[in-house]
Formats: sequence, C-alpha cells, structure tokens
Amino acid sequence: MPDVHCTVDNCKYWTTKNLCTADNIIVQNDGEGGVSPDAQLSSLDATPASSKDETCCQTFQQG
Ligand code: SF4
Repeated sequence: MPDVHCTVDNCKYWTTKNLCTADNIIVQNDGEGGVSPDAQLSSLDATPASSKDETCCQTFQQG
C-alpha cells in the first residue's frame, strides 16, 4: 500500500510524521476536506477525532 498521511493522531494506526500503519483503509468523501498536493504532509497539524464519524476514514479506531 502507498504511504497514507493522516492527521488523526489519536487513532491506533497513526504513527509519527503523520503516517498510517493500517494494512488497508476505507475512505469516504468529505465535502469540506482536502489539502494542497504541495502540503508538507508529515508536519500537518493534528486533527484528533472521537469517533469514525468525525473522520473521512472508516478504519479509524481510537488508540
Ligand atoms: S484514521 Fe484511518 S488513515 Fe488515519 S491513522 Fe487511522 S486508519 Fe490510518
């Protein structure tokens, strides 16, 4: 799987430099989301979530 950069830093699959360690993920659309393709993906601000409904990723599990 390619590198997945994620800022939901309280997920059990999240690790340093905003990387996801899950074997696979499920993502759904987000009318508000998105970052520039030029963004520094490893240093984006954290965006913790309290449930998967607060993320674009349905694989989220609170760590
Ligand atoms: S929220 Fe999804 S993409 Fe982010 S670390 Fe968790 S499983 Fe990976």
